[in-house]
Amino acid sequence: MKILLASSEVFPFSKTGGLADMVGALGRALVNAGEEAAIVTPLYRGIQNRFPALRRVDWHFDLPLGAQTVPAELWELARPGEAKIYFIDHPGYFDRAGIYQENHLSYADNGERFIFFSKCVVNLARYLPWRPEVVHLHDWQAALVPALILQQKRAGWGNAPATCLTIHNLAYQGVFPEEAFALTNLPADFYAPDGVGTEYFGMLNCLKGGIVFADSITTVSPRYAREITTEELGCGLDGVLRQNHAKLTGILNGVDYAEWNTTKNPYLFKTYSHARMAGKAVNKAELQRLVGLPVDEKIPLFGTISRLAEQKGVDIQLGALEEMLNTNIQFVQLGSGSPEYEKGYRELAARFPGKVAVQFGYNEALSHRIEAGCDFFLMPSRFEPCGLNQMYSLRYGTIPIVRATGGLDDSVIDFNENPAKANGVKFYEYTSRALAKAIRKSIAIYEHPDLIRHFRKTAMKADFSWNQTVAEYIHVYQKILS
Ligand code: ADP
Repeated sequence: MKILLASSEVFPFSKTGGLADMVGALGRALVNAGEEAAIVTPLYRGIQNRFPALRRVDWHFDLPLGAQTVPAELWELARPGEAKIYFIDHPGYFDRAGIYQENHLSYADNGERFIFFSKCVVNLARYLPWRPEVVHLHDWQAALVPALILQQKRAGWGNAPATCLTIHNLAYQGVFPEEAFALTNLPADFYAPDGVGTEYFGMLNCLKGGIVFADSITTVSPRYAREITTEELGCGLDGVLRQNHAKLTGILNGVDYAEWNTTKNPYLFKTYSHARMAGKAVNKAELQRLVGLPVDEKIPLFGTISRLAEQKGVDIQLGALEEMLNTNIQFVQLGSGSPEYEKGYRELAARFPGKVAVQFGYNEALSHRIEAGCDFFLMPSRFEPCGLNQMYSLRYGTIPIVRATGGLDDSVIDFNENPAKANGVKFYEYTSRALAKAIRKSIAIYEHPDLIRHFRKTAMKADFSWNQTVAEYIHVYQKILS
């Protein structure tokens, strides 16, 4: 099969979260499974410098965007054993300091930028001599592609590709004032309300358009697939999702173990494995030193890495830590996002000197070191479509403490569910008290060397490799092609 993936971020070229990791890994997994896959993404600032092997393609886009015609160029990078990657080069839209925002403010023209990106995707899908059979769109930034393809099919595009839309996070829908619809150049009937168009309470909703017009919809865990059809977690689109339920599948993301491992990892201070665990203690000591915490093997070290967004449960985490830091524990956090949450963490660090280390900004190396050096990893999310960090934690023998929601519930096993296979600690209620209780349980586990060893071993043996995940995506592609 020939599959073109379209995403606004792809690791290692651009990344703000799990979307980038997933698309980068899916491309490679499809190639490893014997499929032909390519990826298309915007050419953001700095990519050309970091990847000098990028080649200009003899291709020129001149695409209608409302009343204007907008030009762009195309670059490509072929990588052995990996999906070929195409970059859309429009300096005005993409050569900027951020991907979606600067100084915590979204770019005012995000609608225009990604409607244009979606048009470039359709143009490539139609005219690349390679002719993809499936176009696989990721999140709202590419979600108008199925509608744009349908429009061209109506105008005579005979062998148009089938479309699959993956929702990585329903909370981000790409909602813009009605005027933005004119930029799509779609006929007015595509703006129909209810379950048949892109209109949503008087606004253009890109993700809704994808849900309505894609041949198939997936999301990144089975539990989240169920949750998004409910009013509680449906972010206003639960009705549309219920109407389109027959084409919705939940597929748990895989982990790219070539990137996320403890045996061949340039970021770690010492390698280790479930059979030779000694190196983990070295990583803990070095992490404590690095972030300025007292170096002490006996103190349980809790960590977290996340976007500082409401979804991630920062509020209940701050409350639980406030209580639990009065006991003998340490806490390290890495994150970036809301200035208010940053302030909350800074204040916590000021109140518990020598117990709390906080770091802000994006830091790939530190993220691996926290995963390896901590004893426990906190993910108290309000909701979590899949979550990757808990799966990375498992592989690093760092016991995840998670709220039982979405992919967190699907990937972590609590002692109460299965004592033999337990690899993490789950809690249910979205409260600081419930999280504090889970932390207290974790401390009890830590105090029993046999028990923590058992948890670590089962955690490190858990397997979320891409073989299973990619087989499920291939199944979806085959279904829509037939
Ligand atoms: P989400 O996609 O909602 O942000 P995931 O858990 O699925 O959450 O994926 C987050 C990814 O982003 C992980 O690879 C995580 O390590 C990474 N990440 C998040 N914040 C940072 C940061 N400040 N520095 C480095 N990596 C980060």
